[in-house]
Amino acid sequence: MAGFWKPETRNEDDFWPSVFAAPSRMPLVQQRMILPIYKHKRQILYALEHYSVLVIVGETGSGKSTQIPQYLVESGGWAANNFQVVVTQPRRIAAVSLAQRVAQESGTQIGGRVGYSVRFDDKSSPYTQIKYVTDGLLLREATLSDPLLSKYSVVMVDEAHERSLNSDAVLGLLKKIRRVRKNLRLIVCSATIDAQVFLNFFVGNKDGGDPLGTGTIISVDGRHYPVDILYMEKPAQDYISSMVETALSIHRSEGPGDILCFLPSGEDIDRAIRLAEERLRENSIPVVLLPLYGTLPLHMQTRIFQADSNDEKTRRIVFATNIAETSVTVPGISFVIDSGLVKLPYFDPRTGLERLIVGPISQASARQRAGRAGRLSAGKCFRLFTEDFMVKNMKVQTPPEILRTNLASFILTLKALGVENILAFDLMDVPSVDALSHGLELLFALGAIDKQTNLTKLGIDLSKFPIEPPVSKMLLESLSAGCSWEVLGVAAALQVRDLFHKPRSRRQQQLLDYEASVASLADPSGDHVTYTNVLAEAEDRSLDEDECKEKYINYIALKRALEVRNQLAGFLRQFGKVEAMGITGDDSRSKAIRRCVTAGFFFNVAKLSNDGRYYTLRKNILVVPASTSIYASHAPVSSEYIVYGETMDGPRGGIELRAVSAIEASWLREVAPHYWE
Ligand code: ADP
Repeated sequence: MAGFWKPETRNEDDFWPSVFAAPSRMPLVQQRMILPIYKHKRQILYALEHYSVLVIVGETGSGKSTQIPQYLVESGGWAANNFQVVVTQPRRIAAVSLAQRVAQESGTQIGGRVGYSVRFDDKSSPYTQIKYVTDGLLLREATLSDPLLSKYSVVMVDEAHERSLNSDAVLGLLKKIRRVRKNLRLIVCSATIDAQVFLNFFVGNKDGGDPLGTGTIISVDGRHYPVDILYMEKPAQDYISSMVETALSIHRSEGPGDILCFLPSGEDIDRAIRLAEERLRENSIPVVLLPLYGTLPLHMQTRIFQADSNDEKTRRIVFATNIAETSVTVPGISFVIDSGLVKLPYFDPRTGLERLIVGPISQASARQRAGRAGRLSAGKCFRLFTEDFMVKNMKVQTPPEILRTNLASFILTLKALGVENILAFDLMDVPSVDALSHGLELLFALGAIDKQTNLTKLGIDLSKFPIEPPVSKMLLESLSAGCSWEVLGVAAALQVRDLFHKPRSRRQQQLLDYEASVASLADPSGDHVTYTNVLAEAEDRSLDEDECKEKYINYIALKRALEVRNQLAGFLRQFGKVEAMGITGDDSRSKAIRRCVTAGFFFNVAKLSNDGRYYTLRKNILVVPASTSIYASHAPVSSEYIVYGETMDGPRGGIELRAVSAIEASWLREVAPHYWE
């Protein structure tokens, strides 16, 4: 490897104990028995008889998620009398892949004894005994049908250390339910050592209602080979090309084992893969490149588990977001390359802007990421940052989502769960008053709550959609406008990433081809209508992967958008007839779509100022449509008002807008008179 790597300065305590790993060709029964959790089976079953809350701490891969539910059902009798054991996950892919694995281990078909239920996809039945769900789905279940979660004997909250907004809400909800359902048992699983905090939350002094007195903590020993950590001597200039260089150089010069690369976003992953493909043309050693991120279609996500590098086969390079940090155990990894970056939403109540910010990971995350290399044998972790940077610029822990994100959707969910006063709802961390009042203000503006902050009829309808309230508002509006099929396309495109792939290479011809393709589909009003044009083109001509590549359309994003649109249509049909406006010959279609978008996103509006720049209408903050936005590249003139979907930190420090379209001032008064007058 090139000589700019510097080994970690470490003390003796930093070494992980080297024990053994489970070869994947071993029979499943044996694989289960050599997992570290197996030694704790009796202890866990005993504890659950005597305590109502169990906090289990153990390294990723020790068997918590796959084994504990099986112990409870096979030996603990927790599925007797038609009760189910439910396990929550922060991510769909984890819920699905865990269910598939456990069904396989127990020799059953998925959807039978072992099932899963995630947004838009349910594989469970009345006979299901172990069910994996996303934490968001469990909240919806409590909201829509079963407020006491009465069909579950045990709720296991997995990956609690991630402190996602939904898992925090689940913990709060469970604390409330426990006061009524004395027979309910809770298991909280965490990959870090903050166990006591979780236990205190449930059985602290405030809580007198625990039927069994207290809870307890069980620690599962880790299982790890040592991992050599190498830092860069100088920070990487461009983390994507450094990542690809490092991966290919490992591929050429190091022994067997797959490579796991951590990047902050799906966009970066797609770019890295394209760059690696270009570089590999010059290098003939075969290799498989795989992406892994949350907005990937499910069948592509599960490809990660289909091959295993214990077999003699081609090396795999997996490019993943922090999904692979603790949530999903990618098999076969011996090398980790860590960009040291993560993309997280941060909300600033002062400016009212939520931004996806790419920033440094925490030291805890860096440790978790490195650990992924030591599950199979001794591994190596290449960090694309300096040791000094880690010590000085990385926080010890990532702040929980509830302290850094927009709370509108969260408040709506709690309201729908019957929580009248959010401040009285018990949470692990209390959000700031500013963030809460901003969330309430937004819900009020949307018409979801009244002046007393009670849910309105519209609020109840909005809470039934599994998407952000502005998007569901936009969908409901489209029913009366006669363009709901098109607006469903907009809603779906907003859930995925850019539908166009801008070539990274500076080859003139490629750029010209890209421009021509975009121009043929672009609507002069901007992004939203263009989304519907891309989806319509893809369907009318049934574009396959190669045709999309030719047109610079992001095939993966397109597939996912079409999937999501059909699923959202199912939800919208509960409220009215889904109609397509189709081609109208004038721009009334474009106007109808943008007016619906405005009905959902009217608080995301910017106005053109005399200086030729845009400022947000509410707080007068300078914003710039992103260069990738169709509005920036194809609007013939600057509109006085524009609506936008989200804000991001731009490369030069400014605030950039994504999903931007021209709108008319009169629409604002029509769709949200109370807000703008
Ligand atoms: P933990 O919850 O402690 O992180 P898991 O129960 O998820 O651990 O994983 C235990 C073992 O099961 C790991 O060795 C992992 O490789 C394996 N495993 C988990 N999910 C899958 C899957 N979908 N396919 C194959 N192996 C899996």
